[in-house]
Amino acid sequence: MENIEMRCPHCGSASILKDAAAAWDAEAQEWTLVSVHDHETCEDCERSGDYMAERRTFETGMEDAP
Ligand SMILES: [Zn+2]
Repeated sequence: MENIEMRCPHCGSASILKDAAAAWDAEAQEWTLVSVHDHETCEDCERSGDYMAERRTFETGMEDAP
């Protein structure tokens, strides 16, 4: 399985926040994500910008079930 990891290029933190918009879905009775914006903020060093996070793709090994 392939996972993508977000990392702050300034401090290396994985605590990246993504700006997004949600709309209330009255039928489902929950907030539904309608769009994800480009703006990203690092929780640790509080720097922000567009596409500032590095995307790291890595393979996860298959683990044997006990
Ligand atoms: Zn940072």
